[in-house]
Amino acid sequence: RAKLMHRGAAQYFSAEMGVDARERFKLLKGLRASFEARRLFVVYQPQVHLPTRKVVGAEALLRWRNEEGKFVPPDQFIPLAEQSGLIISIGEFVLRTACFQVARLRELGYMDFRMAVNISLAQFRHPHFIPTLQAAMRDAEVPGDALELEITESMAMEDVDMVLHVLADIRATGATVAIDDFGTGFSSLSQLRQLQVERLKIDRAFVQEAQSSAAGSTIAAMVVNLGRSLGMQVLAEGIETEEQAAQLVALGCHEGQGYLFARPMPGELLEGWMAQSNRAPE
Ligand code: C2E
Ligand code: MG
Ligand code: MG
Ligand code: MG
Repeated sequence: RAKLMHRGAAQYFSAEMGVDARERFKLLKGLRASFEARRLFVVYQPQVHLPTRKVVGAEALLRWRNEEGKFVPPDQFIPLAEQSGLIISIGEFVLRTACFQVARLRELGYMDFRMAVNISLAQFRHPHFIPTLQAAMRDAEVPGDALELEITESMAMEDVDMVLHVLADIRATGATVAIDDFGTGFSSLSQLRQLQVERLKIDRAFVQEAQSSAAGSTIAAMVVNLGRSLGMQVLAEGIETEEQAAQLVALGCHEGQGYLFARPMPGELLEGWMAQSNRAPE
């Protein structure tokens, strides 16, 4: 079978890779077709100031509903997009869409709204990343400080020289940077300090463990304190209960995101949700 395909595809599709590789190849084909047919879209999950619950921004999250109408989770298709290089154009689409959404919110009067966008390693180290970022902001007419870029902790520890270089270029655009999934990588204190990013996003796993055991809550406290002592803002991901929120406030965590506050939603709904949550008493 592999012989029927051109050389590039045959490498993906060699017999020894088995069913799994074939499945992945099919998934990638579907993803590419959906992207070209403009069937990928972006949803937004609000982020709040924890002590007051005031909305500070949102995270843009990519969604793919495949040909059969089923949602494929990003954890399944993002890695494929990364391996294939497709993430470069998909990532640009997310960035541009998020910029237009934040521009729209600014038009509605939410001038301090911060839009967070996940950036893959392949995008981050691509030579056109900074020009792409600048063009996205310029075309949507948003200032740099309306944007935050999320890079994962493991990415940040990849190649320190490259990372510091790109971070400096990002800083020059006015955009801020958050370390995503913090606590799941192995960064050292000195590496972390060198990066000088604005925010640490504590991974959902710690938020959940904080409640389930004494050791868990000690670890959560350490992670929050680590961020605070480095002068960073700390945002906890995946907050689902009032108990978790209260515990994180007590630990000094600045911001939060999770189903307790809101699920990811389409842009049109976000605009209504913002109006609603603004009216609600604090
Ligand atoms: P992430 O950046 O850490 O995003 C947070 C994930 O946690 C999202 O999953 C979000 O829907 C989920 N979440 C938020 N609150 C809760 C909660 O209270 N409980 C639970 N159980 N989950 C919660 P999602 O949307 O499935 O995305 C998964 C991952 O896929 C993201 O993790 C991110 O790493 C990646 N991803 C999503 N969109 C993009 C994108 O546009 N570009 C890139 N490079 N990666 C993306
Ligand atoms: Mg993220
Ligand atoms: Mg995360
Ligand atoms: Mg994640």
